[in-house]
Amino acid sequence: MEMNSANVEAVVKQVLESMLSQPVSAPAAAPAAGQAIPKTAHVAMLTALEHYDVKEFPMPEVGDGDILVKVEGCGVCGTDAHEFKRDPFGLIPVALGHEGTGEIVKMGKDVKADSAGKPLKLGDKVVTCMIFKDNPDITMFDLNKQNVGGADVYGLLPDDDIHLNGWFSDYILIRKGSTVFNVSDLDLKSRILIEPCAVLIHAVERAKTTGILRFNSRVVVQGCGPIGLICIAILRTMGIENIVAVDGNQQRLDFAKRMGADNSVNFMNHKGIEALSGAVKEAFGGYEADFAFQCTGSPVAHANIYKFIRNGGGLCELGFFINGGDATINPHFDLCSKEITLVGSWVYTLRDYATTFDFLKRAKAIGLPMDDLITHEFPLEQINEAHVTNLKQEGLKIAIVNK
Ligand SMILES: [Zn+2]
Repeated sequence: MEMNSANVEAVVKQVLESMLSQPVSAPAAAPAAGQAIPKTAHVAMLTALEHYDVKEFPMPEVGDGDILVKVEGCGVCGTDAHEFKRDPFGLIPVALGHEGTGEIVKMGKDVKADSAGKPLKLGDKVVTCMIFKDNPDITMFDLNKQNVGGADVYGLLPDDDIHLNGWFSDYILIRKGSTVFNVSDLDLKSRILIEPCAVLIHAVERAKTTGILRFNSRVVVQGCGPIGLICIAILRTMGIENIVAVDGNQQRLDFAKRMGADNSVNFMNHKGIEALSGAVKEAFGGYEADFAFQCTGSPVAHANIYKFIRNGGGLCELGFFINGGDATINPHFDLCSKEITLVGSWVYTLRDYATTFDFLKRAKAIGLPMDDLITHEFPLEQINEAHVTNLKQEGLKIAIVNK
């Protein structure tokens, strides 16, 4: 049985009040129930290519608008893998980890509510989203078009004097003005999956703008890593049933079926694009797809996917999260004469983040195996091993979990 944090806080307050002559009125500045905040924090810093050092730093002061969070876990992202291998953003030394979540252990007196207006208190479980340094007035209530590409994110910030800037750590300091969400009603695994799921919520929102994605649409999802699998899960929670998954890895295709894909096509079994598009058509019972999601970073996969789509169909390209090179298509045959409606998607908006919390609850409620997406858990000290495992593509989502 889990005692909820509101109860814990009430009990603690009661006990403290009975011990002291004066009532305890300001719990916000005290550590959470049963939690002594240590003098130092541990942060996994990427200090060189393919090398993290777990460094110890003094626990920082918590300002009036700041929140100190005890980190419970953080997913390893494709972006982390790129940083680990090549440092394309030139951030080394850097505290990585942006798919993290944890518990509030201390907060400044000015912190009252999260970015959606939900109250915040000690013991609440939170996630962060983007930080609009240049435009702090952007909120989730704007129908804003601005995705995270224009903002900063914890886990991809330059190092500074505080150092607690990433979620691969045991404590993180969420500074005044950051977006933060109270997600106490989601379990740890769901919370670790929020950030990648938000990428797909955004992609599906983009797809919906074409007007082609409907209940009875035939949908191809190409690429069955975590991103493609989450795409299938979102389509299922929307009531879309007719999904064909395409990948070259049979294990991933089997998982796609567990996630709700109707059928799957292993491209390793089909030589050439004609054979492959024939197999996809066959998987739909003799029809081409109405809509396709391209979830790989492969230029060939981008070029191929047009061949799976019917005249007048739609395509959402979201696989090229970073520059993966040029893809060659034939604009006449692939786009014009077929009248394909194409949308691109990248990262997410604040509003997509909030939508994601409800998606995760819905996915569990209809029995989708979301938890199984997290195939490996490593303690913080094994962060290098976690990244090597991720690069080997042995599992799906790899996570750092602090026990
Ligand atoms: Zn990510």
